[in-house]
This record gives sequence, C-alpha cells and structure tokens, in this order.
Amino acid sequence: MIKCSFCELPLACKACGKPFHPRSGEAHIAVYQPDMQVSCPECGKVLTCRECGFVYGEEEDNETAS
Ligand SMILES: [Zn+2]
Ligand SMILES: [Zn+2]
Repeated sequence: MIKCSFCELPLACKACGKPFHPRSGEAHIAVYQPDMQVSCPECGKVLTCRECGFVYGEEEDNETAS
C-alpha cells in the first residue's frame, strides 16, 4: 500500500478511482520525489490523490508544447 506523501492516506487516483499500484519500483520512488511526474498506471493521467487532491506532477492542460 502506497500512502500519499501529502495527506498520508492510501493513495488512489482521482481520475479513475483506483488504488495506485505502481508496476515498477521507480514509480514508487517517484511519488516521494516532488520534481518527478507520476502517471496513473490504470488510466494514464497525471496522478492526483483522491483524498486530498495533491497532484503528482503538472496537470496536462496545454498540449501545445512542442
Ligand atoms: Zn493525499
Ligand atoms: Zn487513474
């Protein structure tokens, strides 16, 4: 079980509601590194804590960057 690094409740994806179960050890570590973006392995969106709304990365609002 991974805890949210901000609210310390069990971390679940706000977008799809599924518990965050990283498939690699790197993703687990990334959750605790503020500079790294973490994507939900289930829905592919930027991981946002369902409990507190903390965003693990930048929200992908603009897709014009190239
Ligand atoms: Zn949280
Ligand atoms: Zn998700």
